[in-house]
Amino acid sequence: VKVEEKLYQNRYIVDESRPHIQIKDADVCKSCEKQACTFCCPAACYSKNELGSVTLATDGCLECGTCRVVCQDKGNIAWDYPRGGYGISYKFG
Ligand code: SF4
Repeated sequence: VKVEEKLYQNRYIVDESRPHIQIKDADVCKSCEKQACTFCCPAACYSKNELGSVTLATDGCLECGTCRVVCQDKGNIAWDYPRGGYGISYKFG
């Protein structure tokens, strides 16, 4: 079974009014050489954009914390868990 098929088993309730992760400053992303978030996030929430910066879409976030770790040197990600009742529900098996 492919990873994509496994991820499809999960269910998300997206909190539209309060994204639980935010990029603090797009200019910091622009000057970041690695932009590791664009290839380390297992849910591909981060993508390079036409401005040379990074776009974040938290809809499919697995709440794994990888982006916070890879951006630790820049500290440009404001990361929190979703409010109660929102976010991912994992389905095992
Ligand atoms: Fe991606 Fe994990 Fe960060 Fe969510 S917490 S955006 S899944 S790296």
